[in-house]
Amino acid sequence: MNAIEFLGTGGTRTRTQGTTCVRVSKHCVIDAGNLINTLEEDVFKIEHIFLTHSHLDHIIDIPFLADLFVTQKSIALKIYGLKATLDDLRQFIFNHRIWPNFEEINLIGHDDKTIELIEIEIDKSYPIDDVVLTPFKTDHTDGSCGYIIEKNGAGILFSADTYRCPRIWELLDKNPHIHTLVIEVSFPSSFEKLAFDSKHLTPALLKSELEQCQRDDFRIYAMHLKTLFSPTIIHELKTLQLLRNGGKILNDYDTVAF
Ligand SMILES: [Zn+2]
Ligand SMILES: [Zn+2]
Repeated sequence: MNAIEFLGTGGTRTRTQGTTCVRVSKHCVIDAGNLINTLEEDVFKIEHIFLTHSHLDHIIDIPFLADLFVTQKSIALKIYGLKATLDDLRQFIFNHRIWPNFEEINLIGHDDKTIELIEIEIDKSYPIDDVVLTPFKTDHTDGSCGYIIEKNGAGILFSADTYRCPRIWELLDKNPHIHTLVIEVSFPSSFEKLAFDSKHLTPALLKSELEQCQRDDFRIYAMHLKTLFSPTIIHELKTLQLLRNGGKILNDYDTVAF
């Protein structure tokens, strides 16, 4: 794959749009908001899921994936995240109440468990297939992160959900090989208080954030728009000229080339 594929791009789930899910290589995705409906049979190729945080729209397919994999796979599905994210999965999902604890359940006929939860560290690089993923801290939940996705000397910065985050602009300034920023813009600018309370961005906040960055040569793609307010958010992004250098609003199945 010479591009990453956005399987889910919505800030909420609708009949026609899934939530955050990015296929970065043959066997690896970031977040699991829309794997099963989009990949169909190919879903069995997925071996690695890197999580940005534990909110439901980013993990929703994981329990169903474990349910599918337990009788079909021979190696554990590896799920990577910061400690607080993995703690949430153990405490609130795979607790034998909401869902069986697939961390303890063997794949049928095999030694591996169905899922394996693997703690990652901020700023450490993780090579998977032919890409390298490097998590960086964001301001959204305890244990939230974005990722730099690199391949063949080119980079894409994927913010995932975040509020103001100076680290994004530092990373872009330090790494001129990052040619694309994929950033969330969840609410219209008039919802500034809700954006602060829920730790999301608006077009006006993104504009003021961008002023911290020296560079203006990277492309900006926006996603995670709350569907009810999409027309207003899109209008504001265009009026403020934030979709720079040929950027756009991402839709499910869009690809972004390295
Ligand atoms: Zn979130
Ligand atoms: Zn989200």
